[in-house]
Amino acid sequence: MGLTYDQLAEMNKKHLWHPFTPMKAYNAADPLIIERGEGVWLYDVHGRRYYDGFSSVWLNVHGHNVPELNKAITDQLGLVAHSTLLGMANVPAVELAAKLAGIAPPGLSKVFFSDSGAAGVEIALKMAFQYWQNRGRRGKATFISMNGAYHGDTIGAASVGSIPLYRETFLPLLFAPRILPYPYAYRHPEGAEGAKDATLSALRKLLEQEADEIAALIVEPIVQGAGGIVVMPPGCLSGIAALCREYGVLLIADEVATGFGRTGEMFACDLERVSPDLMVVGKGLTGGYLPVAATLATDEVYDSFCGDDERRTTFFHGHSFTGNPLGCAAALASLRLMEERTLVEEVRAKSAFVSQKLAKAAELVHVGDVRQQGLMVGIELVRDKSTKEPFPWADRIGVRAAQRARELGMLTRPLGHVVVFMPPLASTEAELDEMTDILVKAIDDATMGSEWR
Ligand SMILES: *Cc1c(COP(=O)(O)O)cnc(C)c1O
Repeated sequence: MGLTYDQLAEMNKKHLWHPFTPMKAYNAADPLIIERGEGVWLYDVHGRRYYDGFSSVWLNVHGHNVPELNKAITDQLGLVAHSTLLGMANVPAVELAAKLAGIAPPGLSKVFFSDSGAAGVEIALKMAFQYWQNRGRRGKATFISMNGAYHGDTIGAASVGSIPLYRETFLPLLFAPRILPYPYAYRHPEGAEGAKDATLSALRKLLEQEADEIAALIVEPIVQGAGGIVVMPPGCLSGIAALCREYGVLLIADEVATGFGRTGEMFACDLERVSPDLMVVGKGLTGGYLPVAATLATDEVYDSFCGDDERRTTFFHGHSFTGNPLGCAAALASLRLMEERTLVEEVRAKSAFVSQKLAKAAELVHVGDVRQQGLMVGIELVRDKSTKEPFPWADRIGVRAAQRARELGMLTRPLGHVVVFMPPLASTEAELDEMTDILVKAIDDATMGSEWR
């Protein structure tokens, strides 16, 4: 006999501390407790089903409970669940490293595994830093990151993040990167072109003055995720990459959210044919099944770690579960499915469908900006469309829209006043049709609907 909802809810309240969750408010309401998933649906313990409209926080690719992925994991389980990569290898980790090197932007031939996006970012930062140490350029020890960036929650990853809410408390513990203005077209007086020019000219100026002190620039390519799903104007990422190259600064692409087809290309960097020096992937790598992340590096970076002075040039970093065989097997199966189902091309078609459906959202009185790249959508809600005046924080407008969506049968999680829509890439057009209907109605109800309020 399983536990009843009331028992689970009580235990949840007593013992479970949830991430990114104000616990007092959370514990005042009845918790949603998920029991199982099937395709694009999640089922709670009462048997109610919801569309997974945010891919379980941007992870899911093929849907839930996918036979091919389940089988890959159980097959591997029959061989070995875990074996270390410290000084030895395992079959799925070797295969996955080769596979990733094969699909990544040109030049990224070395793969270092970890188990979360934040860890993958830490690794990229440490690699970039040590690369310059290895080459005797000890002064190159600072990073550049973008305003509004999110790269994960560990101390190093949070240091290069710039969302004040996540950062302020820990300020004394963090190192300080140089911050570049993000090209936020909606709120730039001269729109996309103006925003892009401002970013690129600020970067050139910074590099002219400080390139000798800068190890790397870290960026969420094409789409800034947690900062509000903000899409870069065309040419901006390639412009940033060109400036980094010109001034001898490494480029770290954080593809944790954008990787594996989400943007309509395998990687967002592919949209502008950018080849970074280091690239971090996570989230969708295993189809959203198991915690595997990876940091990819060029030979140029890697070779600097192969010096004769081992004590100085070895990368002394690793995690207990680095290269976990179950996770790597799931990732290989997920990538195989993506290819068999030509999922990346599918995303482009589905993305066009979603974009056409969301034209309705743009017309709503309180929708300021509808941003979309592939199946990554952010809808910015504003109190006044003509002045772009935001809703006051206390209105919790994004939370209200997400609550309304849940009542209507779809789960999502807002980013402040931005409503997020990130369906599993495998969602069918019929499913996307219903999900977008729910999305538009939820926003309309939450911003206008007096009876629902
Ligand atoms: C989610 C995210 C991370 C952090 O990944 P975790 O697996 O949650 O640690 C890092 N960078 C970006 C761009 C992300 O969206």
